[in-house]
Amino acid sequence: MNLIILGPQGCGKGTQAEMLAKKFNLVHVDIGKELRQAAAEKSSFGRKLNKIVNHEKKLVSDRIIEKVLQRKFKNIPKSKGIVLDGSPRRVEQIDEVEGAFRSARRAIDKVIFINIPARESIKRISRRFHCSQCQKNFVLGKGIKSAKSQCPACGGNVEQREDDTPEGIRKRLNIFQKDTIPVLKIYEKNGMILEINGRNAVEKVFRKIVKNLG
Ligand SMILES: [Zn+2]
Repeated sequence: MNLIILGPQGCGKGTQAEMLAKKFNLVHVDIGKELRQAAAEKSSFGRKLNKIVNHEKKLVSDRIIEKVLQRKFKNIPKSKGIVLDGSPRRVEQIDEVEGAFRSARRAIDKVIFINIPARESIKRISRRFHCSQCQKNFVLGKGIKSAKSQCPACGGNVEQREDDTPEGIRKRLNIFQKDTIPVLKIYEKNGMILEINGRNAVEKVFRKIVKNLG
């Protein structure tokens, strides 16, 4: 089985992808992680990618997404399926992503869309903090009491990524609406979408996905 999983920030798709991978013998391919890994390589491709991602802070081209996916897919044994997490992000990327699946002689079975309302995204993500010194991650109300708390591990100040402030999340949600919703509409027309309400508990969301895949 080969799946794509998409959804707005904070919808929990990474967790669901991990769980699906375990249950159905799939490899979880997180496009963000793959790009970061490729950018850390010492090859000329790695250096080029590093320049784009880490220095120019630009979005990588759809062609690079395809290349990274092709390389990754080539090393996945035929006995395993794939759950691709976080791509295609925009309509222009569909051809490249599908091309990568095709060149690995794989067909996409379903596109899972985990949907949560904008206010839920903001509620979930704006609680994410990390230590400015040891970089440990915390959730407000769980690992730390307030945004002014000190890191329980090293005593450093906690801080928040700009992307994770309500303002930053709204910006990213707008991009999701503008760029990724049209991708989901296309797959909906093809009858490939499995839309799941992501507001429920992790286990409940997972059961619903499994039931609908079966
Ligand atoms: Zn710390």
